Amino acid sequence: MNYNVAIIGGGLAGLALCIDLKKRGYNVVVIEKGNYPRHKVCGEYISMESFNYLHTLCPALTDLKLPVIRNFKLSSTGKKEFKTTLGLGGFGISRYLLEELLFEEAKKFGVEFKLKTKANEITYDKNSELHSVKTNSETIIAQLVCNSSGRKSNFETQDKTKSLNGTNYVGIKYHIRLERQNDLIEIHNFPGGYCGISNIEDGKSCLCYIVNSEKLKSVNNSIPEMEKTFLFKNQNLKTIFNSAEFILKEPVTISGINFRIKKTINDDSFFLGDSAGSIAPITGNGMSIGLRSAFTLAENIDQYFSKKITKEQLTSKYMKFWDKEFSARIKLSRHFQKLSEIPFLTNRTIEIFNVFPSIAKGLIKLTHGKPF
Ligand SMILES: Cc1cc2nc3c(=O)[nH]c(=O)nc-3n(C[C@H](O)[C@H](O)[C@H](O)COP(=O)(O)OP(=O)(O)OC[C@H]3O[C@@H](n4cnc5c(N)ncnc54)[C@H](O)[C@@H]3O)c2cc1C
Repeated sequence: MNYNVAIIGGGLAGLALCIDLKKRGYNVVVIEKGNYPRHKVCGEYISMESFNYLHTLCPALTDLKLPVIRNFKLSSTGKKEFKTTLGLGGFGISRYLLEELLFEEAKKFGVEFKLKTKANEITYDKNSELHSVKTNSETIIAQLVCNSSGRKSNFETQDKTKSLNGTNYVGIKYHIRLERQNDLIEIHNFPGGYCGISNIEDGKSCLCYIVNSEKLKSVNNSIPEMEKTFLFKNQNLKTIFNSAEFILKEPVTISGINFRIKKTINDDSFFLGDSAGSIAPITGNGMSIGLRSAFTLAENIDQYFSKKITKEQLTSKYMKFWDKEFSARIKLSRHFQKLSEIPFLTNRTIEIFNVFPSIAKGLIKLTHGKPF
């Protein structure tokens, strides 16, 4: 069978795109090397800009009464704290539940899934104007290919000149139960990284931190030792770790994280989500960037298939959109990421924020997009 669109990678960006395109009447196949449901390393805070789009794609979310997050607290090792309201704010839901609900919704609409199937290669035939996606078991033919295979895949198209000093980070996530303010996201800085805590569904909280990989190496790759040595230097984190009930037996972990500007388009496919570029999670918006790019790409693809724009116009519209909306935000987030590794700098930042709270509010605003 030939498809209108083949999507490689069924994470958040791929799932949103497949539902959106299917609702517009196109034949869509998603090739996903994993399966659902599954835990993923993520802070699980979604900026409000995506609230309407996600709820339109997946009405089942409405019944969940998810925590709405409107307040922000930043702390560092020097006992300094800064608190403010978030403006637009966000909401909390685990990736486990969100991807499962979107997957069920996509199946209900008739999206076809090739699960536990890895896409290996894409080729384009100029004569037939069709793409072939080779997997381990078959070749899938489609008019367009969209690549949402995440930040670290065999299709990575990084521009090596724009790396962030080659620094690698490790991400670690737990689900915990802890008596805490439902509408608050906390970021606690420690030497080498920062830890975010915010509430998700069913009275649970997500505790997720990102740390320079050198810190883990320095304690022989022992996560408990790293937590004691570095995270507990922030008294808030020590208290949280000692008083919380840890729901997941083992933390979910990911290594080799870096923040690089990538390409949005190549000869074979359109990139979206983290595969097009990844934002440092200190600004908490990678999921919304993935959703916003799915929203715009679906609209542009619809115009192309309806013959309102040519393939060249589709390409240039999508490239311009991506650059205008996300490049500056990604660059800004990379500075935040570097800053946030050093408690001395975070302490100074907190002092400045406490004297001039409007600076903090302005920066927070810059890291969130407009609702769509
Ligand atoms: C520590 C940390 C904390 C974060 N916290 C937040 C937060 O609080 N809020 C926020 O908005 N963002 C956050 N993010 C960012 C967010 O997690 C990502 O932006 C988001 O997951 C990107 O979604 P995606 O669909 O592009 O990629 P992914 O979710 O990575 O999905 C990619 C999919 O492609 C599949 N795949 C890969 N290669 C192939 C292949 N060859 N064939 C088939 N399938 C393939 C994978 O199995 C995967 O399912 C955080 C990131 C990190 C690292």
